[in-house]
Amino acid sequence: MKLLKFGGTSLANARKFLFVADIIEKNFQCGKTAVVLSAPATVTNHLVSICEEIVNYDNMLTIIATLEKIFIDLINDLNKVQSNFLYEITKKNIIRELDQIKNLTHGISLLKTCPKNVRAIIISKGEILSVYIMKNILISRNYKVTIIDPIYNFASSGTYLDSTVDILESKKRIEKIHFQKDNILLMSGFIAGNRKQELVLLGRNGSDYSAAILAVCLKAKCCEIWTDVDGVFTCDPREIPNTHLLKSISYQEAMELSYFGAKILHPRTIEPISQFNIPCIIKNTKNIKSNGTWIKKK
Ligand code: ADP
Ligand code: ASP
Ligand code: MG
Repeated sequence: MKLLKFGGTSLANARKFLFVADIIEKNFQCGKTAVVLSAPATVTNHLVSICEEIVNYDNMLTIIATLEKIFIDLINDLNKVQSNFLYEITKKNIIRELDQIKNLTHGISLLKTCPKNVRAIIISKGEILSVYIMKNILISRNYKVTIIDPIYNFASSGTYLDSTVDILESKKRIEKIHFQKDNILLMSGFIAGNRKQELVLLGRNGSDYSAAILAVCLKAKCCEIWTDVDGVFTCDPREIPNTHLLKSISYQEAMELSYFGAKILHPRTIEPISQFNIPCIIKNTKNIKSNGTWIKKK
């Protein structure tokens, strides 16, 4: 089993979704594959803005309209190039999720406050829609897909917006599921469930952490994190000139980098994979020939 995680920068438009589907397909042809997806780039920030516009209902509706345009443009573009794309079903899914946000925002605007559990539901929608869209691309290519529910399977504790997953309990739950061998496994990143089976989030950038947990639960031989840079550099290549790509770093070094704020990885990503000694590689969807950076024990 291989675990692949794609960040929002790799899912920013229809072309990128199709490219990611190609990578998933290639991997699945070589063996069992599980995939964790983030929200398309910018979507989570828009969702967060909705929750911050409590006093202005019209502004909330404007942001929802922006989101609707992002997703409808995306599936319109997909429909032009992906044969047999399940356009109508996908559109219905998108409208249903956005309608739920509209209903919640109406409530928030009346209450003039946004409770954290409602905030979590709204902010999670990008990851949920990414999975619907990818599922329907893969089905249109004749693959079978199983969706893993992170609310039930990722047992977590903490706050609605920043929870920590109980690895052993989640592993038990996922081990009980009977996965069909010929199915690609798909899961929304960033999301987990609390003791009351309510949706909670894993903190900003949390899909990396979701990928690490799922890699452990599925006993993956490798966890691949696909992003928009060639791997881990000596510092943020977008901020600092003349940085160097690192061929490999230890779990300890990766943990230090992320805890001190390197956005390339969510800080809690390394703990599960290091505990279960699962090698991780950071790869670039914009430059698949690059060797990436390995994160291993040594
Ligand atoms: P994704 O959408 O794939 O999760 P992110 O934007 O969350 O991507 O993380 C990738 C970004 O992390 C890069 O574009 C880069 O700007 C930033 N980054 C910060 N520190 C580093 C580092 N040391 N090496 C590589 N990238 C880094
Ligand atoms: N979409 C979420 C965020 O922007 C989680 C992630 O991308 O990992 O923080
Ligand atoms: Mg990220």
